[in-house]
Amino acid sequence: MIEVRDIEKTYTMGDNKVYALRGVSLSIEDGDYVAIMGPSGSGKSTLTHILGLLDVPSKGSYLLNGREVSGRSEDDLAVARRQELGFIFQQFNLLPRMNAQENVALPLLYSKSPGGQDYSQQLLARVGLQSRQHHRPNEMSGGQQQRVAIARSLINRPRVILADEPTGNLDSVSEKEILAILKELNDQGITIIIVTHEEEVGAQAKRLIRMRDGVIQSDERLKPKPQPVPMQKAAPAAPQSAWLELMEHFRQGFKTLAANKIRTALSMLGILIGVAAVIAMLALGRGAQKAIEEQLSSLGSNLLVLRTGAVRVGGVAQESGTTTRLSPEDAAAIEQKVSDIAAIASSVDGRAQATYLNKNWSTQVLATTPTYAPMKAAIPQLGRFFTDDENLKRARVAVVGLTVVRELFGGSSPIGEMIKINKVSFQIIGVLPEKGSNGWRDQDDLIVVPLYTGMHRLMGKDYIDSIEIQIASADKVEAAQENILEVMYARHRTPPSMRDQAYQLRNMADIQAALSQSSQTMTLLLASIAAISLLVGGIGIMNIMLVSVTERTKEIGLRKAIGARRNDILMQFLAESVVVSVVGGLIGVVLGWLITIVLSKVAGWSTAITFDSVFLAFFFSSAIGMIFGIYPARKASRLHPIDALRYE
Ligand code: ADP
Repeated sequence: MIEVRDIEKTYTMGDNKVYALRGVSLSIEDGDYVAIMGPSGSGKSTLTHILGLLDVPSKGSYLLNGREVSGRSEDDLAVARRQELGFIFQQFNLLPRMNAQENVALPLLYSKSPGGQDYSQQLLARVGLQSRQHHRPNEMSGGQQQRVAIARSLINRPRVILADEPTGNLDSVSEKEILAILKELNDQGITIIIVTHEEEVGAQAKRLIRMRDGVIQSDERLKPKPQPVPMQKAAPAAPQSAWLELMEHFRQGFKTLAANKIRTALSMLGILIGVAAVIAMLALGRGAQKAIEEQLSSLGSNLLVLRTGAVRVGGVAQESGTTTRLSPEDAAAIEQKVSDIAAIASSVDGRAQATYLNKNWSTQVLATTPTYAPMKAAIPQLGRFFTDDENLKRARVAVVGLTVVRELFGGSSPIGEMIKINKVSFQIIGVLPEKGSNGWRDQDDLIVVPLYTGMHRLMGKDYIDSIEIQIASADKVEAAQENILEVMYARHRTPPSMRDQAYQLRNMADIQAALSQSSQTMTLLLASIAAISLLVGGIGIMNIMLVSVTERTKEIGLRKAIGARRNDILMQFLAESVVVSVVGGLIGVVLGWLITIVLSKVAGWSTAITFDSVFLAFFFSSAIGMIFGIYPARKASRLHPIDALRYE
C-alpha cells in the first residue's frame, strides 16, 4: 500500500526554482495496476522515482506499507528498495559483462540471500528465456533484454514493480510480450506502476493517472478495483555470511578486471615494478652486507689497525701524517712494550703498473712484513711467502694474487718468472690464496712485496701507512688499545690537545660495524627509491579507478536501484583496486626474485632475498591498493542513485 501526501519536488537551477512536482497526493492499493501518463516534463518520472525510493521529495510524506520513508537515510532506502520493490527501466540497464542468469541474480548479492541460481533460472523460464540463460545482453534482442530485466526485478519477490517506459525502446511484438508478462504478474497480486506515453499501454492498466505541470490532472479507474490479495512474502533466506559476500566482491572484481585486460595490466605495472625493485634492492643490499660481515669475521675481531689520523690545523684537515708518521720502529716498540700481542705487521700500499713481456696490468701493491701471511690468511697456495731476511735485504721478490696471474700469465704458472712493477724487476715466488670480491673491490687483484723493498725501491716512502696488530684474545683488545696509544703518544711526544686526532686505532669489529652501517644506509636509500615507484604505482591505480568510476556511473546507479548500500559499492571498487595491487604485487615478487637471480648469476653480485623483504613489499603493495582505492571507491559509493542512473 502506497500513500503519498502533498509531495513537492523542486530543483534549484541557478537562482530559479523549478517545480517538478507541485503537491501530489495519491494512494495506490496492493494489487492495483496503475499507468501514469502525461506530456514530457509533466513530472511522471520524478513521481515514479520518488515512489521507487530512488529520489526523495522536497516536501510531503510518503508511507510505504504503513511506514514513513521520507527523511530516511540512503542506506535505509536501499534496504527498503530491495525488500519491497522491483524496477524496470526503458534502457533495460543490464550489465554487459554478465550473462542473463547472472544479471537476474545480481540483486541477491545485496539482499544477501544465497542459492539464487535455481530461482533465477525459474524466473528466466517464467519470462520465456530458459534457453538464453548463458547469453550476454549484446547477444539478445531488445525485447529479450527487457524480459531479463523483468526477471531481475522479480528476484527478491517484490510487492511492487515500477516500470519507467518499459516498452519505449521496443517493437510492437516485444511490447505485447512485455505487457502480457506485466499483466500476468499483476494477476498474481503484484502491484504494477507503469509510466508510459502510449495510449494502448495505458489502456491495459486498471487505473490511469494523467499528469500535467507537476500535478495530477485526472485519475480514472478503467477496471474494477483489485480484490485485496493476501500476498505471502517468502520468508527471507538465511543471510549470506560476510566471508562469502566478500568473496563474491572479489570474484566480481576479478571478472571486471579480466574484461579490461590491457587497462588492468597497465595499472598493475606500477605496483609490479615497485615491488620487484624493492625486493631486488633489498636483496642486493643484504647480500653486500652479508658478504662484508663474512669477510671481516673470518679475519677475527681481535685485529687492530693503527694509522695516523687526519690532524686538523686551524680547522683544515691536513694530509694524513703531516705531523706524525708511522715507522717500522713504532711497530717494533709496540711489539716490545705492549703485552698480549700475537702478531704485528707494518705495511705501505699504493697502485702500480705490472708488466710481463708485452702485457700490462694496473694493480694494487702492498708492501708488508712476513708476519702478514699468517695474520691475514695469506699463506701462498703455490710457492712461498718472502722471509725476514729478504725483507731486510730489500729483495725484489713478489707474491701475486690470482687476478694478476690471470691478467699477466693467462693459465700458466708464474712461479720463478720475472715481472716489472713500475719498471723495477721482481721475481714471483708465490701465488696468494683466492679471496674473492668483497662487494666493491677484487681482493685478488694484488701484489705483495717485502716492506722495505716496497718503501725504498717502489714507492719512495720512508714511513709506513699502517700497522696491523693481532691481539692474543678478544678480551685483551681494549687494554691493548690503550697501551698502544700510550706508546705512540710517548714516542712522538703528542701534545694532549692533539691526542684525539693524531692516531686512528681501529678495531676490526668497529670497521665491520661502520661498513655494515654504510651498506645498510645504501640499502635503505635504494629501497626507498624503489618504494617511491610503489607509491607512483598506487597513484596509477587511483587514476584508473577514478576513470572506471566515471565510466561505470550508470552501473553504480543500477546497483543502487536494486538495493546496493553505500558500503556494498565501496567494497566492490575497493575489491577491484586490491585485486589489481595484490596480483601486481605477486607478479612483482616473482619478477624481483628473477632479477635477483640474474644479478647474482650474471654480474656476480652477492644477493640475499629474505622473507621479510618479500612480505614487506607485498604487504605495502596491498596496502597501497587499499589506500589509493579508497578515494575512488568512496566517490562511487556516494553517488546519488538517480543521478547515477541518468548519467550519460
Ligand atoms: P517527465 O518524466 O514527465 O518527462 P520529469 O519528471 O522528468 O518529467 O521532469 C519534471 C520537471 O522537472 C521537468 O521540468 C524537468 O525539467 C525538471 N527536472 C527533472 N529532473 C531535474 C533535475 N535533475 N534538475 C533540474 N530539473 C529537473
